[in-house]
Amino acid sequence: MNEQSVMGGGQVHQYLQYIGQDVQPDTGRYLDKLSPSSGLKMGTVAVGSAADVDMAVRHAWEAFPAWRNRHPMERGRVLNEIARKIREQVGRFAELEALETGKPAWQAPIEIETAAKYFEFYAGLVNLPKGEVLDLGPAYHAYTAREPFGVVGVILPWNSPLNQAARSIAPAIAVGNVVVAKPSEETPGTLVMLARMAVEECGLPAGVLNVVQGSGKETGAALVAHPLVRKVAFTGSVRGGREVGKVAAERIIPLTLELGGKSPNIVFDDADLEAAVAGAIRAFSVNAGQVCLAGTRLLVQETIHDEFVAKLVAAVEQMKVGPQSDAQVGALSTSAQFEKVQSYFDVGIQDGATLAVGGRALTPEEGRGGWYVRPTVFTGVRPDMRIAREEIFGPVLAVLPFTDEADAVRIANDTEYGLAAGIWTRDLGCAHRVAAQLEAGQIYINQYMPGGVEAPLGGYKQSGYGRERGIEALHHYTQLKSIIIKI
Ligand code: NAD
Repeated sequence: MNEQSVMGGGQVHQYLQYIGQDVQPDTGRYLDKLSPSSGLKMGTVAVGSAADVDMAVRHAWEAFPAWRNRHPMERGRVLNEIARKIREQVGRFAELEALETGKPAWQAPIEIETAAKYFEFYAGLVNLPKGEVLDLGPAYHAYTAREPFGVVGVILPWNSPLNQAARSIAPAIAVGNVVVAKPSEETPGTLVMLARMAVEECGLPAGVLNVVQGSGKETGAALVAHPLVRKVAFTGSVRGGREVGKVAAERIIPLTLELGGKSPNIVFDDADLEAAVAGAIRAFSVNAGQVCLAGTRLLVQETIHDEFVAKLVAAVEQMKVGPQSDAQVGALSTSAQFEKVQSYFDVGIQDGATLAVGGRALTPEEGRGGWYVRPTVFTGVRPDMRIAREEIFGPVLAVLPFTDEADAVRIANDTEYGLAAGIWTRDLGCAHRVAAQLEAGQIYINQYMPGGVEAPLGGYKQSGYGRERGIEALHHYTQLKSIIIKI
């Protein structure tokens, strides 16, 4: 694909695979890629076959011995160079990412910067996964070593494409693995741009990072099933994770699953209400609500409920939505997501919740044909309603009242998910007690979703297992060996 011409607009482009060079799909088939901000066709995406996946995996496997045996600091230098180049080319990456996802122009560069940070962070940790000396008594010298797996299959969603790709790829290659990655068929471009840049401009040996394109059922499934793939990192839906998990279980290979969420954001009556209103809005509406960590269940203590909801609704009413570069809420990234989010407007009303604000898509005139919905708040929500239980993955907030700390924890944990949670209070004791009781992998206090490539991220319950980000991720991209020597 020629990204420059994609950015020129108006033309239809082919998104190819990158296996040391651009590779046409063996199938000769392509999927249409539509633009979220206009609904018009902007490209065609290669559908990689099992043969394409096999070519990519073998290419990676051949690169593995040399890459794993490189001095760790040399690997680190390459990762640092990738970070530097991403920053140097942030405009190109951000423009393509915004085109493919429908994100507002101001938002994409923030995510590209996070992608650079992953490479920078793991560049400095290349020597870290080290072992221990074990005491087996004076007759032995024994130690453990952490080693890479070999070929890691990385399967990615469409909501923050480059950021999520870097989150898995950087730690994997830092410790000597080689990667075959499959972006979502909805966002095929920036990962190929990254792989090509890394190989052609940053000194990453060809074969260490390869990109196959296509659907989950065909290309993704072939990647997970390939006998030389020794570990899979999957980010996506619970449904997709379950399908991948079945194959991984059959093959007995390790799997990191980063799945969905329905995260609670709890506001106690002693909180800084202005900050909590702003935080609650950010939690459910950033990236048009298409964030796995999104705080989509807002639990408000009943003593401040009406006052808080009034402030929240007034602020949400003012939000700018649409194709403008300074909009707070951009497009939903896929037409299926656009339909799904609108269907929940009806579900909420049918279930008996009160539509406080939003609840409609922009008209084609307002949204210039793009897939935009107004941020939407439902009040009077009960924990058993579908809008309180199902991941909508759009800017839709369910507000639920609670009485006290115990009630808040009970409602917050009444979900099959467990990715993230927020707590707003000035009472440090309350914050710690509630944080300890919440069943979620990441807890925010007096803020929501601050990011941080250093903080491990992953799910409790149906939100997945394994961890990405932080030093912890390195343990999931290495395997442990014990070496026992008789002296
Ligand atoms: P999805 O599960 O439909 O697809 C994710 C990826 O998996 C895509 O590349 C897809 O082609 C592939 N895939 C699907 N089925 C597959 C199969 N059987 N075998 C192999 N590959 C398969 O998810 P999506 O709609 O792209 O993304 C949205 C979901 O991702 C939401 O549920 C969201 O919460 C979740 N998500 C989680 C995180 C996290 O870090 N926990 C981050 C972003 C998104």
